[in-house]
Amino acid sequence: MQKIRDLLNADPEETAHKMKQSEHFMDAVKELIEVCGDEPDRQGLQETPYRVLKKFLEYTVGYRQDPKAHLEKQFDVDHRDLIMVKDIDFNSLCEHHFAPIFGVAHVGYIPNGKITGLSKIARMVDGYARRFQVQERLTNQIAVAMDEVLKPQGVMVVIEAKHMCMCGRGVEKKDAVTVTTASRGVFSENPDKRREFLSLIKA
Ligand SMILES: [Zn+2]
Repeated sequence: MQKIRDLLNADPEETAHKMKQSEHFMDAVKELIEVCGDEPDRQGLQETPYRVLKKFLEYTVGYRQDPKAHLEKQFDVDHRDLIMVKDIDFNSLCEHHFAPIFGVAHVGYIPNGKITGLSKIARMVDGYARRFQVQERLTNQIAVAMDEVLKPQGVMVVIEAKHMCMCGRGVEKKDAVTVTTASRGVFSENPDKRREFLSLIKA
């Protein structure tokens, strides 16, 4: 259970409380296994409640950090054109079904004197993805973080993702990709800027 303690990353009092909740959760997973019709004590399932708990904590590590903080490392640069990070792959968990969402995020901005590290943008995306999410909120949170911390002339975000909860509902939907967009500043006001961004996604 030390791994669980580490993943909780909380103060001692909160950790004690959450460890108690963790025990209850693992008992509940055992019951779920029974509800589904299997035996929680058979060999392959004995460790499953622990593994499920650990996986959930890994998938939601974004709650225990401030993703925006990654963007605070900034550099003064006189660059007035689009900077774009394409194909940032991420995993998330759909809040309606706890089913995996996986895909890529494309994040672009036109700076206003300040830029941030490209890897910091990827870390920020991960921080919001690793929560219980809907793709629409994830897209917006990324745009708002870029807008608030970097104060750029504009920011645009496009996410393309597959939702496992959709994939399970009939073979014909297994390749369905959901696309969401969010824009701020010049990208909201200027269709040419949006077009430039979208053409670079395909490039
Ligand atoms: Zn879902």
